[in-house]
Amino acid sequence: MTAVDAGPRTWGMLIDGQWVDAAAGESIEVITPIDRTQVIATVPRARAADADRAVAAARAAFPAWSGMPFAARQRALLQIADLLEDAVEELAALTALDTGNAIRTQARPEATLLVDVFRYFAGLAGEVKGVTLPTAPDQLQYTRRQPLGVVAAILPWNSPLMIAAFKIPAALVAGNTMVVKAAEDAPLTILRLGEICSQVLPAGVLNVVTGYGAEIGEALVVHPDVDKVSFTGSTAVGAGVGAKAGGRLAHFSLELGGKSPCIVFPDSATDEVVEQVLLASRFARQSQSCTTGSRLFLHADIHDEFLDKLAARTARLKVGDPRDEATDIGAIINDKQWQRVEGYYQEGLAREGVRVVYDGHQTLDVPEHGFFHAPVILAGADNSWRLAQEEIFGPVLVAIPWTTEDEVVAMANASHYGLAAFVFSKDIGAALRTAHRIDSGWVQVNQGGGQQIGQSYGGMKSSGLGRELSLEGMLEGFTQIKQINVRLG
Ligand code: NAD
Repeated sequence: MTAVDAGPRTWGMLIDGQWVDAAAGESIEVITPIDRTQVIATVPRARAADADRAVAAARAAFPAWSGMPFAARQRALLQIADLLEDAVEELAALTALDTGNAIRTQARPEATLLVDVFRYFAGLAGEVKGVTLPTAPDQLQYTRRQPLGVVAAILPWNSPLMIAAFKIPAALVAGNTMVVKAAEDAPLTILRLGEICSQVLPAGVLNVVTGYGAEIGEALVVHPDVDKVSFTGSTAVGAGVGAKAGGRLAHFSLELGGKSPCIVFPDSATDEVVEQVLLASRFARQSQSCTTGSRLFLHADIHDEFLDKLAARTARLKVGDPRDEATDIGAIINDKQWQRVEGYYQEGLAREGVRVVYDGHQTLDVPEHGFFHAPVILAGADNSWRLAQEEIFGPVLVAIPWTTEDEVVAMANASHYGLAAFVFSKDIGAALRTAHRIDSGWVQVNQGGGQQIGQSYGGMKSSGLGRELSLEGMLEGFTQIKQINVRLG
């Protein structure tokens, strides 16, 4: 039975090359955020017994997969990339339905990125290699880089294919086998990805499980035969995952939340910078991005002028059905998240001193039963407020004025998060000085877009631990070193 044979609404999980139900026979209904009344699929509700099965399959597949010549793993990844490329439109449409991410602005770019990242890491297959140390004529001293073993990858719902792209190809090319846990709110693209990969990979190399975090997620984290947990999600859950994985001395990496500063200098109130700040705001992803530039620090001299331009530009964004090519902003993932965003929005409206710069609710025209939220820009906020300190993960942007570089750097760093940051200035000295002083894992200067394939990516402070996306990240994140010392003669 394949997932497709099982019908469009009833998926199995991929374990050891087979599509299976949960051991306990339970399932979860998946709805689309476009319409809360529409169940689009059921997926298995996996628990500890399913973790055992999936980890055992990955363990059994490990010796053969890790023992292959690297060129064979490279070929496999390239074949998968070709299949994924053929399926880009299908994956984009499924992403729009499953996550609410708008097809043109987000869902299709995610699917395309997935293809490119598979190709990128395929090209790095031969880089999983060691070094020699010339200590003495009768010595051969060298290192070997070995895969870690079984990697459990735990994914969030906001951009499933993009986050999968940040984990799966790197782990596989280094010789690991995997159990991938999809988010309960958006599992469908990950199941389809598993299905495509299974056309190429030997059984058990990539297993995909579905279910709740507290059940199958936790079961993988504490499983004694999981060698690494690669987690992307919220800081609160990630802290627990790190404690549990670390407690049993497993490897782990954490890609967590953010509250990233976006700093505009007085020389940069241009239309071009407004476009880039709009990208940084991630409005077109409903701001459901960990790297959202959600604290907008505007120099006092251009504060009002910049906000006028940003408001006018934001007003041109269309909120609507994510499957529609004309839509810029899709739907929030679920009711809980919608209520959370709405709570911050209402709090902003009620705060004394807040000025509503833009509120798209007046013109919101969206499908009746979906979780749509208009973008909102608030000024007059203080950096100490909840609105400026907590990750809203929704399209509510707060603007804060500044006057000196020291002051804005201090405000930018007054956060327990440290994921991304954006600096805009024509004065490259000032921009780089500021970039170097900000405690974030990723700072962009004069641009607001997304990650470049191969760049270092990861958080400082409470935004995470470890790097996986780059060559160095793949080596550090998915391999370990063995030193061999040989006496010759
Ligand atoms: P979440 O932490 O609620 O869930 C993430 C995943 O962890 C899900 O698959 C969930 O089922 C699982 N999970 C939940 N409890 C678990 C447990 N006890 N043990 C093991 N697994 C468990 O996060 P979310 O709401 O799905 O995603 C939004 C969050 O993810 C935001 O905070 C966002 O900033 C963050 N995020 C970070 C990055 C990054 O690269 N830094 C990227 C995307 C999202």
